[in-house]
Amino acid sequence: MKISDRIASSRPLATTAMHGRVETLRNQGESVIDFSIAISHFPAPKPVLDAVAQAVERERTMPYTAVVGALQVREHLGEKLRKENEIEAGSEEIIVTCGAKQALYESLYVMTDPGDAVVIFKPHWPAYVATAQLLGLSPILVDLPEQVTPAFLDAIAPAKVVIINNPHNPTGKVFTRAELEHIRDWVERTGAQVIVDESYEHLAFEGRHTSFAATCDWRKIGVVTIFSASQSYAMMGWRVGFALAPKEVVSAMETLQGPITAAASHISQIAADAAFACGTPRAMMDDYRARRDLAVRHFAEVPWIDMHAPASGPYLWGDIRSLTMETVAFSERLLEDKRVAVMPGDALGVPGYIRLGYISDDVATLEEGIRRIIAFGDGYARA
Ligand code: PMP
Repeated sequence: MKISDRIASSRPLATTAMHGRVETLRNQGESVIDFSIAISHFPAPKPVLDAVAQAVERERTMPYTAVVGALQVREHLGEKLRKENEIEAGSEEIIVTCGAKQALYESLYVMTDPGDAVVIFKPHWPAYVATAQLLGLSPILVDLPEQVTPAFLDAIAPAKVVIINNPHNPTGKVFTRAELEHIRDWVERTGAQVIVDESYEHLAFEGRHTSFAATCDWRKIGVVTIFSASQSYAMMGWRVGFALAPKEVVSAMETLQGPITAAASHISQIAADAAFACGTPRAMMDDYRARRDLAVRHFAEVPWIDMHAPASGPYLWGDIRSLTMETVAFSERLLEDKRVAVMPGDALGVPGYIRLGYISDDVATLEEGIRRIIAFGDGYARA
């Protein structure tokens, strides 16, 4: 069968492809420690499970909701934005989606035309570049500095859209309000529109997360802010999130979403309603922080890796440029020889680094995986 030219030149996402390989090995009876993505070992918060159980009892049928999501859910999300994000928004400025990924695809689709330039900071979540490529856009990859300054921003080429990920996967960077204000001033000057992915909003260990939309006139600039239940509430498989955007953008996204998925799953909307109202469980953050500290302690003694404690999020981002092996080969061989999966930084636009999701298994497995990585890397350290 002939596959269309449109898709034939695209490749599956590196992250989901690696996760798929781990699944295949496991189905063959192999035991693999998977740090390639971050799948929380926590269940969804109790209020979510209770709300879903009650809804299943109560509802005989689960009708389609409006494509943009049930009105009551969007009203509650509006309250969440006011209370947690310092943003005033009406329900017509909110669209519920099947996770951040759908919101990303739809917002990029409706804000750009093929050939438009999109600024993406690297290292980057692989889905940003993959989505831009699917839509025929021209990604401009720019190294994310430790500090975003006006001089840094002024050196960036003009673009139709800039994508910001705050807090940031994989470095854990939490943008300060001052940095966001520099970005605001710059987009006001250059006319770029903005997509801000705030999926990790509640996973900041240090520093407070500020929503970009709270620092600017987001309707005028054209800002889409994306939220997800996946990471902040350990609800990856529920596939639900939402976007806040000017109402003409929401309405264009609705036009696109209608024929694709129609509304997000009704039961997942009920789950998201409860999740975004209850806040990220304290026990989850305490657990993540303890694991982060433990992992960083282990790597601190290893001369060939430079691993800083991330200020947020479920990933460690380590510099292994001193090794004699390139990072794609490193991750391939590590999986083959030691049965540990990590993401090479190449998939996130920065070779020489590896990314480890550290929240998926029990602590003993985390430590065992780290021991195997260290033993493997020791064999390629420069004398
Ligand atoms: N944004 C970023 C930057 C992520 O890393 C993730 C999780 N991998 C998500 C969003 C969550 O996406 P979704 O809501 O589609 O699960």
